[in-house]
Order: sequence, then C-alpha cells, then structure tokens
Amino acid sequence: MKNENLGTCCNDYNQEIIYSSSDYEWKICKNCDLIYQISNSDRINKVKEIQFNDFIEPSESNKSEFTSVMEKLKKYTNLSDLTFFDFGCADGSYLKIAEKYFKKVQGMEPNPFLKNKAIKKKLDILDDNFLDIEGPFYDVMFTRNTFEYVTNFSDSLTKLMNKLKNNGYFIWRDKFYDYYPKNYSSIDFSDGFNSLPTKNAIKYHLSINRIKIIESRFYFDKSFLIIGQKNNNSKKIYKKKININTIFYNNYLVCNIIFYLSEKIHSIYVLLRKFKFLKLIKKWKITLI
Ligand SMILES: [Zn+2]
Repeated sequence: MKNENLGTCCNDYNQEIIYSSSDYEWKICKNCDLIYQISNSDRINKVKEIQFNDFIEPSESNKSEFTSVMEKLKKYTNLSDLTFFDFGCADGSYLKIAEKYFKKVQGMEPNPFLKNKAIKKKLDILDDNFLDIEGPFYDVMFTRNTFEYVTNFSDSLTKLMNKLKNNGYFIWRDKFYDYYPKNYSSIDFSDGFNSLPTKNAIKYHLSINRIKIIESRFYFDKSFLIIGQKNNNSKKIYKKKININTIFYNNYLVCNIIFYLSEKIHSIYVLLRKFKFLKLIKKWKITLI
C-alpha cells in the first residue's frame, strides 16, 4: 500500500489534489500553500535523471550577482573564519567564487554529469546521501534554483537547515510561484518540476526551521533572494497572509495575464536601473574631468 504521508507537506493538514493523472499528482497544502508533485512513475524518474545534462554554466551577470551577495553578507559577519555549503551546486561555479571568501567550502549535486564537472574543478563535493546523515554543520548555507526540483520539499528543507549552525546564515536564491502560470496537465511542465513554493510556503517553512529573515527581495521576474539567520530559540511561526494567489493557483489564464504584466514591469525596472546606472557613470565622468 502506498504510504500516504510520504512526500506530502505539513502533517495533519489537508492536502488538496489540484491535478491527477496516471503519471503524477499535483497537490496544494492547505496549511502553508506549498504546491508539490507526487509521482511514482519510472518514466518521470528517468526524465529527471538527465534533466540538467544540457546545463549552461552560470552567466557572468549571475556570477557577479553571487559576488555582490557575498559582499552583502560581509555586513553581518567576517567570512574568512567560516565554512560554506552550496546545496545543488551544479558545476561548482559559485563554490569557486566562494573559495575566495571562506576558510572551507563544500557542495552537493545529485546530477552525475554536473557533479563530475564540479569535481574536475578540484572542489569538495559530498555524497548524495548528504541530507540523511548526521552533520557536517556549516556557518553559511547557500542554494540557488534548487528547491523547485527537490522532492519532499518540507522534509528536505528541514534536513538542510538542521545542518546550519545556530546563528549561521542561509542564503536562498530561488523562484516563487505565486501567479505563475502552472499548466499541471502538460507533461513538459510536470516533468520539469517537483515543488512550486509560494511566498507563504517559503516564509512558513523558514519560520518552522527557526530561520529569521534578515533581508528579502521578491522580484517581478518571480525570483527571490532571502538572507536568513538561524536562531535556535525562535518560536515564532509565520502566520499565513491571505493571498488571492490561492484562488488562482489553478487558473492558468488569469495567472498567465498577471505573469505577462509582471514580466513587462520587470523589463521596465531593469531598464530604469540601467538608465540610473548610466546617469551615475556620466556624473562620475563629469566629476573626474
Ligand atoms: Zn504545508
């Protein structure tokens, strides 16, 4: 018999089925608003095994963004005495940069193709059973665009956060799926994802893992950056905000319109930032002359 608790979200709360086929099932947790997939299909497992074999190395702008996050973290602590871990480190590009900041860096990558790339860069990549063993413990943990592919979102995040030392920092750069057009019935869409965290789910799961958010940005392109700090004494659980997204989580058309508009706003935002940057350069030039 199938274990009903396996791979579900918050225990003892209603997990409503959004979409169901012979291959997979999409559900939403009524407690935290996490949207997630459950599947026992061999076909899906095989697809997911090779999902990142055409991975492209992070762009220069992604790398410089990572560097700027490291600089941001320096405001809070002295990095050179600390240990760093990248969960889902892909080809190790970010670990390579992190080496310049921390006394020790390690990573984990389940995809064999990417893992090999990282090992070839002489990086310390831990075994795939990393989450299921006790320790090691880190001062800073980082993850980027990983959790949407993780099965057992809630369990995996808890296991990961158990490896963060008290007062340690968690840097989470990922995507959130409020108003994102989710075509659950499309095989291409469903093959691509395991978990679709919403803002409520992200904040709730951080709070139950005793991570206090010290900086957070949710962008119009559906990406977010959170810098959190672990506080073992924290007992405050995030109270879910009423979010009209939950009315639309199953409405592809409405989500598509909202997503289209927010993408437009994002382009204007990027353009304005560039413009502001250009103006700054001009100003500097004038001052230099
Ligand atoms: Zn939940």
